[in-house]
Amino acid sequence: MPTARRAPAAFLLRRGGERLLFDCAEGTQRQLQRSTAGLPDLEEIFLTHFHADHVLGLPGMLKTFALRGREALGLTVHGPPGARALFANLRPLIGRLPYPLRVVELAPGETLERGEYRLETFAVDHGVAAVGYALVEPDRPGRFDVAAADALGVPAGEERGILQRGEPLTLSDGRVVTPDEVLGPARPGRKVVLTGDSAPSPSVVQAAYKADLLLHEATFSEEEKDRARDTLHATAAEAAEVARLADVRLLALTHVSSRYFGPELAREARAIFRETVVPRDFDLIEVPFPERGPPQLVPRGARPERGGGNMIEPMSRMVQLATAGDVAEAEELQEMLRNAGIEATVEQAVEEDAVSVFVPESSLEAAQDAIEVLSEPDDIIAEP
Ligand SMILES: [Zn+2]
Ligand SMILES: [Zn+2]
Repeated sequence: MPTARRAPAAFLLRRGGERLLFDCAEGTQRQLQRSTAGLPDLEEIFLTHFHADHVLGLPGMLKTFALRGREALGLTVHGPPGARALFANLRPLIGRLPYPLRVVELAPGETLERGEYRLETFAVDHGVAAVGYALVEPDRPGRFDVAAADALGVPAGEERGILQRGEPLTLSDGRVVTPDEVLGPARPGRKVVLTGDSAPSPSVVQAAYKADLLLHEATFSEEEKDRARDTLHATAAEAAEVARLADVRLLALTHVSSRYFGPELAREARAIFRETVVPRDFDLIEVPFPERGPPQLVPRGARPERGGGNMIEPMSRMVQLATAGDVAEAEELQEMLRNAGIEATVEQAVEEDAVSVFVPESSLEAAQDAIEVLSEPDDIIAEP
């Protein structure tokens, strides 16, 4: 269920100019509006399954597109078998739409060829019709070795393009140059895998093999392992074991139960798989081409900058230390700082539901140190 700071499942995947939405929980359109991505005129939505916490945002979002006057631009909603029945049930809520809506059912093991990449569905273990999704880019040709091409007498221009595309080239003197003579080793594409809801499953390990990024649900911690089994969800440790077996580059835990904060699940997972993050709302994960470095979490990367200049001016050189989700949390932090001998003030920002905590600039470092020793710092505090 949603909490004040955490919305239920939805992920926006940006690739080039494309925007793909995976799942559309209650409140998704508003979360998008609040993000730097805005609410784009999505052309495709991919549902992992039809539990309420993954689809309740659909009717509202579809109506928003209608109210914007969208007519020509179609929308395709993909989902596991049962997607059409879902839309039959939603019809009284959605009514007539002025734009074309297409519903496509995908069984596990299907592939959508999409030019620069392919989308593959795979089986998950959630006890209902459900699929995970893998976005897979093919290998890219290796780097073009200009010096080698010069030495072989390949003229500059179109001829080099032929070799770069992986085709052999016959020179004017009859010699044949093959691509491997001028191209470095093929460079791997990227792979991003989303499980949706699932107990740990060999099919997920297989689908996630060598992924750059695996978004795996971790609804529970090991303390609630029995409950995870009963409900066909995963614990953080189980998700980490999947990531370890699949040898992924980065594991992002999602779908965290409202009783957890994040850091405790990250700790549990990192004991098994070090490269684990638990993204918060409006966090961003960048997935560069492998040769350009590992995928990286950008905290608050999709959150708009706070209003420039019109925010609270420093009063007697107070500086913002952190933001908390609500007043109670902010006061908890304030109390903790008071115990450390630091007088902090609490301010509720006008346009944000977050509460800011300020400390005297001279105490900033001490306050940051005091926060470090909190058992679950990431929960109570977000960087300003
Ligand atoms: Zn579910
Ligand atoms: Zn769910």
